[in-house]
Amino acid sequence: MKSVAVIGGGAAGMIAAVFAAKNGNRVILLEKNEKLGKKVYITGKGRCNLTNDCSPEEFLENVVSNAKFLSGPIRSFSPQDTQDFFESLGLKLKTERGDRVYPLSDKASDVTKTLTKELQKRGAEIALNERVLQLIKEDERFCVVTDRRRIGCDSAIVCTGGLSYPSTGSTGDGYAFARGFGHGVTELKPSLTGIETSENFLPVQGLSLKNVSLCAKHGKKTLFRETGEMLFTHFGISGPLALGVSALINRIPPEEVTLILDLKPGLDEEKLKKRIERDFAEAKGKTVSNGMLKLMPARLIRVVLSRAGIRGDKRIADLTKNEVQNLVFAMKSYEIGVKRLRPIEEAVITSGGVNVKEIDPRTMESKRVKGLFFAGEVLDLDAFTGGFNLQIAFTTGYIAGNNA
Ligand SMILES: Cc1cc2nc3c(=O)[nH]c(=O)nc-3n(C[C@H](O)[C@H](O)[C@H](O)COP(=O)(O)OP(=O)(O)OC[C@H]3O[C@@H](n4cnc5c(N)ncnc54)[C@H](O)[C@@H]3O)c2cc1C
Repeated sequence: MKSVAVIGGGAAGMIAAVFAAKNGNRVILLEKNEKLGKKVYITGKGRCNLTNDCSPEEFLENVVSNAKFLSGPIRSFSPQDTQDFFESLGLKLKTERGDRVYPLSDKASDVTKTLTKELQKRGAEIALNERVLQLIKEDERFCVVTDRRRIGCDSAIVCTGGLSYPSTGSTGDGYAFARGFGHGVTELKPSLTGIETSENFLPVQGLSLKNVSLCAKHGKKTLFRETGEMLFTHFGISGPLALGVSALINRIPPEEVTLILDLKPGLDEEKLKKRIERDFAEAKGKTVSNGMLKLMPARLIRVVLSRAGIRGDKRIADLTKNEVQNLVFAMKSYEIGVKRLRPIEEAVITSGGVNVKEIDPRTMESKRVKGLFFAGEVLDLDAFTGGFNLQIAFTTGYIAGNNA
């Protein structure tokens, strides 16, 4: 019987330990927190969007870094396999908007409970409150040095996560283990995070816009253009659209990025102009601010008028044709400068990590050190929101566990 040490009891570590134990190995899962899956617990706003009900091809379209590396693995353990796996263990699932899959109970904790039960059934040892300090290879075996003891094992799977939300235990320890074995770690950047903007959006702080379009440009190249939800915050912008943009601009100097917000994506410029003229005709004796109330929330009117260079108390009757044109432009092409992304600690995911060129995608084993495996966010893999990041953890964890 071979012995396997799995370091980190998050999504990747739990599934890796399940499959390593299922294959008849003696498995120990080491977690420094008092419980498993502390990050899983907060995923999907406590509901855990554990995967996306999509094909491997669609999955790969949603991977931002190193999709090519995942093209084989995602076929070995696909989003469908993830759903079948959890349902076979008795966890009922449901699919919501955007093909996002959640536990039917809406409880993220049920995902961890299901995996914990399976770990116990398979006889894996779960060691909580035990932090791995060092991972060493001695001859053909590994020595896992924890804050309590030294554990010998034949293989080790590093599943320590990234750097985001460090309070959940993801403090980047695995990068040090990888470097210790000569592995490269690509630059670590925040992804799926809010964007600090040059303009101060304090007047509209807390305002969420449901149907706007955000475009991100690097020079002439369009990196992102999507319609959806965006939120103004004390630092700039957040919400699904901003998070999506952050994944694509985190390696570009911020001053080279331009964001263009379209507040009325359903109307082209001509149609919007006609709509404004109609609203203004109905509110002839009023101020411009009042004449726009059917178009957008009052707080936002102030911001848009300021961008168009029009005073809110100006009478509609006194508006020039040029000013109406400026108003249309401010609504359709509101340019926003980027200062920086919010720090990695606040990001949903870490972009960058253990260089996947040095990992065999068929096994998740290091090409440098036999018996050393990596899975989950510690690897240089990241994706958009929608359940794709947990799917990365499950796919890589499954493969590592099966091969360790
Ligand atoms: C707020 C938030 C919401 C999210 N929502 C979703 C979502 O709905 N859907 C989705 O797909 N993704 C979501 N994600 C991303 C998802 O949580 C991660 O992709 C996933 O948790 C990565 O799994 P992992 O096992 O690689 O790492 P982690 O979940 O970070 O687990 C790593 C574990 O290793 C332990 N550890 C670290 N170092 C040591 C050490 N030295 N010794 C012992 N143990 C150690 C940590 O304590 C931790 O438990 C969300 C992330 C955040 C922050």
